[in-house]
Amino acid sequence: MEKGSLRELCEEVKRRLDYRSFFMRYCRSDARITSDKLHTRCPIPTHAHSGQGGHSLSIDLRRGLFHCFAREEGGDAIRFYELMHNASFPRAVRELARELGLSPDGTSQAGHSLRHAPEPSELLEERAVEEPLPGARLAAVCESFLEVCKGEEQMEGINYLSRRGISARAMKRAGVVYFPRRAYRRVMKGMLDKFELQELQQSGLFNTQAHLTFYKHRLLFPFYAEGRAVYLQARTTASGVEPRWHNMRGPVPSLYNADALHHLLSGEIVYLVEGFTDTLTLLTHGFTAVGLVGAGGLKEEWLAPLARFRVVAALDGDRAGESATARYQELFAARRLRLAQVRLATDVNDFFRHHPSAPLEFSLLTEAALEKQKSEDRSQESEDSTPLTRIF
Ligand SMILES: [Zn+2]
Repeated sequence: MEKGSLRELCEEVKRRLDYRSFFMRYCRSDARITSDKLHTRCPIPTHAHSGQGGHSLSIDLRRGLFHCFAREEGGDAIRFYELMHNASFPRAVRELARELGLSPDGTSQAGHSLRHAPEPSELLEERAVEEPLPGARLAAVCESFLEVCKGEEQMEGINYLSRRGISARAMKRAGVVYFPRRAYRRVMKGMLDKFELQELQQSGLFNTQAHLTFYKHRLLFPFYAEGRAVYLQARTTASGVEPRWHNMRGPVPSLYNADALHHLLSGEIVYLVEGFTDTLTLLTHGFTAVGLVGAGGLKEEWLAPLARFRVVAALDGDRAGESATARYQELFAARRLRLAQVRLATDVNDFFRHHPSAPLEFSLLTEAALEKQKSEDRSQESEDSTPLTRIF
């Protein structure tokens, strides 16, 4: 191929690439999107970020440009692909072109059922894809997707969770569903039978190339609101796949498993933990937990449903977990709520997997944490006591 035509192909790729879905492929679930900008932890392998760092990668979704502030490196989508796949410029262009259904000379390949390039009439449609789907339709897509996947063999998903100490019962209660890779086309077709392609694209379930985007991520964790699945995130069960998570479009709507609180009596203990695994681990052992997913952390509007419970944080035992707990305690206090803290050496899942009597020990730690909180409250009260309160 001549240099000139490679350049042209590169421009054609950039013209057709859906930057949002392209970059989202490489971003963790904690990516933050504000209008045309995306901020996330930088996934570029050669940058070797520690994983503790902040959101150093900034992406301009309109222009398709990225910049890592920690390493001062940036460029366009092709450069990003080169870095992510350790590919040369020609290889990056050719691979992306192939994915978009472009032949080497930049024209669309005909008769390609899946990787079809948009016809001119579809360009209007593509703009409509940018619009997010209304909540009720998003829920319909989520529920159908779970239903379709439920019809597939669940064993690999059950085994994956079981290796992490999560029971099939907890999985079922949380509505976690799996589909094997060999079912990919059938699941994709199942969804196309039920919905317009455009709606599936708007939901983030399908990309602009009309593919189901949940390809490597097939263990699905739904978020429920009043019994309806309104959002979902999915995890890869294979090792070495980055990013490990994939999700529908739009922000995480709530704490994970928050809908389960509706059936819980006031005054019961609810644990605030990190992630799906810790939430389901506690569910397995008969505790009630809600999970923080994504680095956005706890949103203030999520606190109200927790107000009638005794809430105990059991975040990771590292410095990040410790400082997050302190931050959340302040957030709770600002609403006149309390957040007790159970300190674990590592995390909930690890604790339960390595202590044979973990449920009992965990209960005892919780009691101690609540007792400590009570005595702190009492000393606070006596400090606050003024002649006025003594009158009463
Ligand atoms: Zn970086």
